[in-house]
Amino acid sequence: MAPALELRQITHDFGATRAIAGLDLVVEAGEVTCLLGPSGCGKTTALRIAAGLEAVQQGEVHINGALAASASWALPPEKRGIGLVFQDYALFPHLNVLDNVMFGLTGAPAARRARALAALEQVQMASYGETFPHTLSGGQQQRVALARALAPSPAVVLLDEPYSGLDARLRDQVRDEVLHVLKDSGAATVMVTHDSEEAMFMADRISVMDGGRLVQSGAPDTLYSAPNSAFVASFFGEVNTIPAIVRNRAVATAIGHFPAGDLADGSAAVVVVRPEGLRLESGAAFRAEDCTGDIIQARMLGRTSLVHLAVHDLHLHARAAGVFLPAAGERVRLTVDPAQAFVFPAS
Ligand code: ATP
Repeated sequence: MAPALELRQITHDFGATRAIAGLDLVVEAGEVTCLLGPSGCGKTTALRIAAGLEAVQQGEVHINGALAASASWALPPEKRGIGLVFQDYALFPHLNVLDNVMFGLTGAPAARRARALAALEQVQMASYGETFPHTLSGGQQQRVALARALAPSPAVVLLDEPYSGLDARLRDQVRDEVLHVLKDSGAATVMVTHDSEEAMFMADRISVMDGGRLVQSGAPDTLYSAPNSAFVASFFGEVNTIPAIVRNRAVATAIGHFPAGDLADGSAAVVVVRPEGLRLESGAAFRAEDCTGDIIQARMLGRTSLVHLAVHDLHLHARAAGVFLPAAGERVRLTVDPAQAFVFPAS
């Protein structure tokens, strides 16, 4: 079966700015894909091109296997079978909740009303049909916006930073609900976010963009455990970055030797290690070959403890599960989990 949404070799300029460079994206029905990247990397532009809110300059958009837009032809946005949810919800202020959701539906009024109510039911907002948007909380408005997008049973749902207007606690709750509603709908979903944790929470697949390009695409655990660049590794949470030179196909650092892969001898590299990849042992008797570090400080952060330590001239962060609070100045044994240490060329 053809993918629900496909962007083929989309390139897009705003004047002299190249917003997107040769972007390919395939989203299957029932799949949630997150476009993840820093501000200005082209995520929103990609979404707007898929929706038909921005004309295609180069490349093609296909929906359910049929051409939806190219540089010379475009299906109007309302004919694409796409539901949109924006950052600011964009509900019509002069329409009540039910009329907002009925707005995009076609057919007899009774059938439209029934579909709208069913969509509101899905997001637990059916009892707010007569209410006007300005009296709703941000989370409620977001649910209505989702119901409006899903009511016509679109093949594709596009969400642009849908939780950015919500405070942290509400965001956790709403995104959980939204995930289940989207999955139940069976639509192909593309969500834009700059928050890697949010992307990992929502996505079956994450496509990371940088400077208008797709830099890596895959399942969240693949991107986390096998990033293809220091940029991707560092985008998924804090990392320790240790510069080193490749010698004899390895890089030697104060915390150990790491295989250099196909990096050339003599070239500059970085070893990127996640804080949870550094294991510390307090109160150990040291052997000559042990790598050790001196605790600078340790803080309990809830489920984990964050430990700052010095190893020669490196200042590193280690993260341990639960409460692990060695005293400042204590010497600890340090081992590195090789699965959480990555060697990349220095940029
Ligand atoms: P953010 O997370 O900040 O929304 P983004 O990754 O969604 O960023 P885009 O909004 O797609 O990025 O912007 C990509 C690039 O294109 C940026 O350099 C931006 O300044 C530029 N750009 C976007 N829209 C326009 C526009 N209408 N006119 C001119 N330049 C634009």
